[in-house]
Amino acid sequence: MAHVVVVGGGVMGSAAAWQLASRGFAVTLLERGAAGHTEGSSHGSSRIFRLAYPDAFYVSLAARALPLWRRLEAESGIEVLSLTGAVDHGPPAAIEALHGELRAGGHAARVLGPEQAAERWPGLRFDTSVLFHAAAGRLHADRAVLAFQQAAAAKGAVVRHGVRVAKLLRHGADKVEVVTTGGEAVTADAAVVAVGGWAPGLAARSVSGLPPLRVTQEQPVHFPAPDALDWPSFIHHGGAALAGDSGVYGLGSEDGVKAGFHAVGPVVDPDRRDRSIDPLALRQVQEYAERWLLGVDASAPTATTCLYTLTPEHDFVVDRDGPVTVLAGFSGHGFKFASVIGELAADLVTGRPGARRFSLGRTDPARADPERADLGRTDQARTDGGKTA
Ligand SMILES: Cc1cc2nc3c(=O)[nH]c(=O)nc-3n(C[C@H](O)[C@H](O)[C@H](O)COP(=O)(O)OP(=O)(O)OC[C@H]3O[C@@H](n4cnc5c(N)ncnc54)[C@H](O)[C@@H]3O)c2cc1C
Repeated sequence: MAHVVVVGGGVMGSAAAWQLASRGFAVTLLERGAAGHTEGSSHGSSRIFRLAYPDAFYVSLAARALPLWRRLEAESGIEVLSLTGAVDHGPPAAIEALHGELRAGGHAARVLGPEQAAERWPGLRFDTSVLFHAAAGRLHADRAVLAFQQAAAAKGAVVRHGVRVAKLLRHGADKVEVVTTGGEAVTADAAVVAVGGWAPGLAARSVSGLPPLRVTQEQPVHFPAPDALDWPSFIHHGGAALAGDSGVYGLGSEDGVKAGFHAVGPVVDPDRRDRSIDPLALRQVQEYAERWLLGVDASAPTATTCLYTLTPEHDFVVDRDGPVTVLAGFSGHGFKFASVIGELAADLVTGRPGARRFSLGRTDPARADPERADLGRTDQARTDGGKTA
């Protein structure tokens, strides 16, 4: 039986371990942190799940992820995804683009006027038309990571916490030696490197062609609300009444209603960040809540920090270079796709080609591979192509 070492036990590495163990690989997952640690990108009680993207590629990817989340729940016995529906509001062009792609993908969605929407979701304020789709809601982040790891372990994977990988040594095209900072060497037929904000170090040293990655510390805020668990997930798209390009994302959770500006935080070194709360950034989210989140107590915020790992165009990296598969650059909107990213990672390990959109060296015309499937367009006007949370 082929042995695969997965480095990194955030949501992506854990999903890959589950998929690989499901396909009969002997899997060892090495995670440097303790179980449930809060140093990376996958901790906390909530992440948005949604199908709405202004881009057919991501709409179809999210649609593939949904039944895999349900399979994870069935296998692990852990509830991970609650469908609460999602609302998008903001500039009409953004709403029309989302609606168009949902319709094109055959997904139910409808547009409501601002008064009608306010009646249905009195906790939110709207000044434009609102797009609603029901196949969306809240993923429980901590429970999802736990469920992937438990389901992987139930299929024979060995999950080890507190083990930090120092380097990967390749021995030809189909052997890799994974060396820990403790000096242990684990030999495998393949490795999957899914180290989140640490990708510019370990992943960049282990594969060639990794796009430039920017690691930022973001600061979501929770506000108390009596009915927090009944809230839809929401995206208030930037522009028009909401100054600036960065939209606001949010959703209800067991910690209150979460809200944050997307991808506005400072660049950090994940090993040296001090995790202190930026009072100015906190005040900006509070001011947003005072104006737009009528159902929360904006005077009682609780801020936390979390890492984004951003590629230039906010497309992910899911590709293989020899015996090493890399999962990186999830650009603040990757969690919802984790169940299908695990599947794509296992496909790569078994030798199937990946999507060109997620490839290493995609910005290098000399490496362009016409054989690769590309499921969607890349002609989005904004750098991030409207990919928010
Ligand atoms: C504030 C915030 C809000 C977000 N909201 C959403 C949302 O609503 N919807 C959505 O879809 N996405 C959202 N995201 C994005 C999503 O959470 C991330 O894309 C996802 O969690 C990335 O997971 P990861 O496994 O790549 O990284 P991580 O979770 O950081 O996992 C990487 C792991 O690798 C480990 N590691 C690093 N180096 C080593 C080493 N040398 N040896 C062993 N282990 C190592 C780390 O300890 C870490 O546990 C949000 C992100 C943030 C920060």
